[in-house]
This record gives sequence, C-alpha cells and structure tokens, in this order.
Amino acid sequence: MQQERMKQMLKFIRRGLQQTLHFCLSLGLLICLPAAKKVRVSNSVNTLVIDAGHGGLDPGCNGNNEIFEKDVTLGVALKLGKLLKDSLPSLKVLYTRTTDKSLKLWERPNLANDRQADLFISIHCNANPNKAAAGSETYFMGLHKSEGNLEVAKRENAVITYESDYKENTRYGGFDPDSPEGHIIFSLVQNAFMKQSLKLASGIESHTSKLSPIKTRGVKQAGFLVLWQTSMPSVLVETGFLTNSTDRVSLKSNDGQQKIALGIFRAVRDYKNSLELLNSVNGK
Ligand SMILES: [Zn+2]
Repeated sequence: MQQERMKQMLKFIRRGLQQTLHFCLSLGLLICLPAAKKVRVSNSVNTLVIDAGHGGLDPGCNGNNEIFEKDVTLGVALKLGKLLKDSLPSLKVLYTRTTDKSLKLWERPNLANDRQADLFISIHCNANPNKAAAGSETYFMGLHKSEGNLEVAKRENAVITYESDYKENTRYGGFDPDSPEGHIIFSLVQNAFMKQSLKLASGIESHTSKLSPIKTRGVKQAGFLVLWQTSMPSVLVETGFLTNSTDRVSLKSNDGQQKIALGIFRAVRDYKNSLELLNSVNGK
C-alpha cells in the first residue's frame, strides 16, 4: 500500500517535471526563433496556395508499394485547384508544385508569403506501424496535445533531411529533426491566425468526412515546420492513412481523391463566404 502511494507520488512529480520542461523548451524556442514576419490580417480570400506535400526524390509514406504519398497529394492538390478555379474564378490559385518535383521545405511557405496569399493548405497522407489506424485529421499550428500528434509532426518535419544543407540553413532556425524537443515549435505569427485556421480546419474535416468513406479523426494541433513561417491562416490536411488498406483504396483512386478535394473545396468556399459576409456586415 505504502509502495503504491510512493509510486503514485513519483508519477505525479515526474509529470510535473515533464510539464515544466515542456514549458521551458517552448519558451526557449520562442525566444530563439528568428524574428516573426509582419502579420497581415486579410478581410477576404483572394489568393490561395495549395501545397502538395513531398515530391521528386522525397516520396513521403509508402502505401504498401501500391502508391506513394507524393502521388496522392499531387492528385488531390490538382483536383482541388480545378474545383476552385471552375467555381470561384476570381480566386487566384497557386500551387507549390504541379509535377513530381523536389522542393525544399522552406520554398513552400515562402511562395505563400511572397505572393501575399490569404490561405495556405498543405496536403499529406498519414502512416502508422499499426495498420488498423485510419481516418483523416486536419492540423493547425500549435503545441501538440498528444504523443500521436507529435509523431505526425516529427514524420512530416523529417523531410528536411533530404536537403543536404538543412543544418546550416538559417531559415529553419537550427531545427534538429532528431531532437524530440525540436518539434515543439511555437509560432507568434501563426498565433495571430489560430481562430481562422481552426475554422478552416473544422470545415475541411466536416465536409470531407461527409463525402469520403475515410472517417474523421478531428482537428488537431502540432508543430509543423511547413506551417511555422506562413503569414496567413494555414492548415495541414492528413487525408488518410496509406498504411490502412481501406483508407488506401480511397487515397489511390481518382474518385476517392476527387471526394477529398470536393470536401476541402467546400470548406474553402464556406470560409471565404463567411469572412466576406462578416466584412460586408461590418462595412469594411
Ligand atoms: Zn507528408
């Protein structure tokens, strides 16, 4: 009994220490990160960047040797772009890539910042050693609230190791993908867009789960390098698990990709309409 109480007390102390360490690391990173870019709050959605994750030498997750993540992300990105261009012709749609080419990670947010985009949507697929893991989840920038979220961010952030100079590249602020603490990325810039990013992320999960057989795992937060330095509302969509045989059927088919693209399209359309309605009511 005494031993049991002792064990519980030790567990409690350990958890307290972990939380303190987590806070200190976050604060340390906050201070060490390069100066935040100017925050521009947009009243409408005129320009949107669609980022097809991975590409070229970086295949992303392997879908049982039947398909790779880079092909699914490009398929969904191009279908989403077409839907947006056809239905919302006044919206400028930009892509980080439209072919199977390698990109440095920093080039993706850089395009969105340079072109003063109003939204940034990064498209990915999930993977897990547990093949039963299935479903879609949409992330926005923040501190991970579970180890699972951290694992997803770690896997996606590891793409910079394809860049031979990533350790010297100041754009990554000394980020080390091998260090578990490194993934606790805190962004002042993204904090300003948290509400909008959450709104778009919720819309994406709600619409895609109605159209696609891939179930929703909800909206989540974690430290993704690709979202870190974007100066606009930004989300990262993990469209489904390529390691799950049921999700994979949808992810690799044209019809399955089209349904996901349509869900994301409807979320963007609703987001744009509500923002513009709000601004017209406010007389802006
Ligand atoms: Zn990915």
